[in-house]
Parts: sequence; structure tokens; C-alpha cells
Amino acid sequence: MLSRASCLAAQLFAKPVARRVLLQPAANMSGYMKKLLDTNVWDNDPELYDMMKSEKKRQVGSLEMIASENFTTLSVLQCLSSCLHNKYSEGLPGQRYYGGNEFIDQVEILAQKRALEAYNLNPEEWGVNVQPYSGSPANFAVYTAVADPHGRIMGLDLPDGGHLTHGFATPTKKISATSIFFESMPYKVDPVTGLIDYAQLEKSAKLFKPKVIVAGVSCYSRALDYKKFRQIADDVGALLFSDMAHISGLVAAGVTPSPFEYSDIVSTTTHKSLRGPRAGVIFFRKGVRSVNAKGEKVMYDLESRINQAVFPGLQGGPHNNTIAAIATTMKQAKTPEFKAYATQVVANARRLASGLQSKGYKITTGGTDVHMLLVDLSNTGVSGAKAEYILEEINIACNKNTVPGDKSALNPSGFRLGTPAITTRGLIEKDIDTVVDFIDRGLKLAKEISAVSGPKLVDYKRVLHEDKTLSAKVHALKAEVTKFSETFPLPGLEEY
Ligand SMILES: *Cc1c(COP(=O)(O)O)cnc(C)c1O
Repeated sequence: MLSRASCLAAQLFAKPVARRVLLQPAANMSGYMKKLLDTNVWDNDPELYDMMKSEKKRQVGSLEMIASENFTTLSVLQCLSSCLHNKYSEGLPGQRYYGGNEFIDQVEILAQKRALEAYNLNPEEWGVNVQPYSGSPANFAVYTAVADPHGRIMGLDLPDGGHLTHGFATPTKKISATSIFFESMPYKVDPVTGLIDYAQLEKSAKLFKPKVIVAGVSCYSRALDYKKFRQIADDVGALLFSDMAHISGLVAAGVTPSPFEYSDIVSTTTHKSLRGPRAGVIFFRKGVRSVNAKGEKVMYDLESRINQAVFPGLQGGPHNNTIAAIATTMKQAKTPEFKAYATQVVANARRLASGLQSKGYKITTGGTDVHMLLVDLSNTGVSGAKAEYILEEINIACNKNTVPGDKSALNPSGFRLGTPAITTRGLIEKDIDTVVDFIDRGLKLAKEISAVSGPKLVDYKRVLHEDKTLSAKVHALKAEVTKFSETFPLPGLEEY
């Protein structure tokens, strides 16, 4: 017999239609109130619901290969749409500015505990803040916590695979707030090997004397040498801040090196390879930092700085529905099933790299150790933008990206592919071979179209749509990709 709780759960989670039963409005509620409070979005706002349905159809019918994306789980979606969303809880568990937080405190404490467990961290040595709204605010909180205004920060340059928040600026314009409110100096990859140039970083760090060195990437297919980063940071007295946003799922599963052993601070998003809600998390060291020449212990002071930077420094009320979703994500990340998933993500990325190489494509750094890879199209006559466009037209989502040696960030010569999302949908190596074939045929079509259109993207797009023979070929390939993609399930709710 089903327990009352599971009956309730079944009503709540099975079907939106069933869910309404629980929300019987009071008999005396006015029609107006009923209409606003107790109407499904599809009845209340069909215009919006149509858009949501279209997006769902797009997700089901296309291959999501943007390296930073994933399909989150049903549990996470349920947390996000739960009543936890309704509560204000500024402050930390036990120290709130609002009443009524008994259960919210439990949720946040659980999320903290599980976040530490997911990365095998000792709570005596590491603390965690689970409130950042996303990865970018988490990083900004870290900088404001440990550096003064105009303090110095070194991160990997954006065109070389770093993230905007690591300090991006062009020669004429400061772009990221990190470069506006702090002084940032980028380090680079070697233009020939595509690997991080640690020797150059070491030299520049000695001259620039940064307060913070950021070890983290958004487009880089090899493991980072955290030990080397640590040594460079120690030589110049900098904090080592690792931003594992892209790889945090792989780190939790133990399929890529962990930054924790060598870092003072680690931030992550929770929605990329970790497959949780859109959010950010900051881990920081606690306890003894070092012992000085006089034999005295020097303590870390990161805990209060970081907690205060997040709130009240930068944010207001935490998103408690998201924090619950982080808690359940961190639980999932500890399971053998998640480890198997992350292992498959890397196996799929490797298969994708070798498959494309066997068709003659150049992969930056010669392959991948993680969930993503960078296809270098320089000197092929097809730009990164043209590749991205044709792939989108055939329902394969990816993004154009600069490759080492690119002269202009505005016209990148490559594109980035990732496997976290398609692996969630159940693709394995043999399916990746089919995907390689689709990509190869798409890129060959791009060449054919370019031969007619010439180099300009506008002409290329026009020819793609207006040339009858070529556009028929594009449509035929798109139909094949859609049919293939639709055979793989998408986690989440059926209706939206
Ligand atoms: C994605 C990413 C971020 C930012 O995350 P958002 O949630 O998009 O703000 C920060 N750092 C790195 C390395 C990333 O890849």
C-alpha cells in the first residue's frame, strides 16, 4: 500500500493536472483570485506556454553540444519549482534577518554538508557558501572578498579559453567588471601547442605580483597543473583561486584531477557537468594557512570575508529553491551512477575527438582529457561562425570559438563541442560515431555553400537559404539529425 507521503508525492510530481488537486482554493475565494493563483500556465498564459513548448521541442529534437550546457534532473526541476522559492532568508543558517527559517536552515545546512562531501572535503579545513546566484556573481564575490579595489588578478585570457570573469579586457576597453574594478593581467596559451604557458605565467606573475591567480577554464581540453599554479602563487605570495565551473561534475566523479589539494578557494557553477540548477558555490579554506618564521600559526581569514562578500556585500535573499536543488545535486554527484555518467562524458568526448580527427579535422592540443574539445578550422575556408551556423541549421548546437593563434576574437577560426548534455540523454560511443558523421556532413555542406557565397557570413546565410539545391541538402540532413535526436529521452517534466 502506498503511504500517504508517497500518494502526495505522486499527486505532486506525476502530472501537472494531478497537481491542481492539491491546490483546491478555498470555497469563498473570488473568481479573480482563483484565476491568478490556481491556473496552469498553459491555461493562464497560452502565449508564453507555446514558447515553452517550442523550446522543449527544440531541446528534444536537437543535439545539445554546447560544452557548458546540460539537462538537469527531475529532482532538481522539482526543487526549483517548490515552495522553498517563496521564502526570504538573508543571512546564514542560524543567523537570519527574517523569521520562519527553521526548515530553510535545514535545507541550506544540508546543501553545505553535501557540497563538502561531494568533494571529499574535511569540514575542519574547508567551508562553503551555497548562496551565489550563479558562477559570475560567485567569482565577483571572491575577488571583492580577498582583493581591495584595484587589487591585482591574473586569469587565463578569454580568447585563450579563460572566462570573462577572470578579468577580460581588450586593448581599448575593459569588458568584465573584474577588469573595471580590479587590475587584471591575463596569461595565455602557447599559440603552437594550445597548452597553458606556465613559464610565461610565472614570469609575468613575478613582475605583476598579483593578489589572486585564477586557475580555471571555459574552453580548454586538458587537465590543469594545479601543483604548478600553487608553486607560482606561493612564489609571489598570491592566493590560488580555482574556478572549476566547467569540470566540477568530472571532479566530483574523480575522472579529472581535483583542484582542492592545491587551492585556497574553489568556485563552481552547478549547472554544467555537475548537472544541477543554475547557481554558483564557493569553497574556501579554514584553519591554519601557514607557520611563519617565528613558528607562529597564520590562520586563514577567508570564511568571514567570503560569506560577507556574498551577503550583504553583493547579494540579497538567497534563492532557497535553488539551494535545495544544489543539495540534491550534490547527493547525486556521490552516486556510482553519476561516476558512470562522468566517465561516459569523457569517453564520449574522446571518441568525438578521434572520430573527427579520422575525418581529417584538426583538434586543438590533439585531443581531450575532459568533456570538451576545440575543432580548429583555420585554413579550411570555413570560419567558426559559418560552422556554428550550419550546425545550428541542422539541429546541432555548439559555439564558435577562438583557437590558439587566432588574430581576431571577432572572427574565430574554430568551434567548441562538449558532451555533458548528450551523455545525459544516453548517447554512448557508437552514437558519437553517428554524431561525427552528421558534423562532418554539415561542415562539408558549409564548404559547398562557401564555394558559392564567398567569404562573407551574410552571403553564406543567404545562399544557404536561397539556393534550392543546397538548402534542400541542409533540410534533409536536419531531418536526419532530428529523427536521431528524438530517439533519446530528455529528463524533466513531460509538459514543459
Ligand atoms: C560558466 C563559467 C562561469 C560563469 O558562470 P555563469 O553561471 O554563467 O555566471 C564562471 N567561470 C567559468 C570558468 C565558467 O566556465
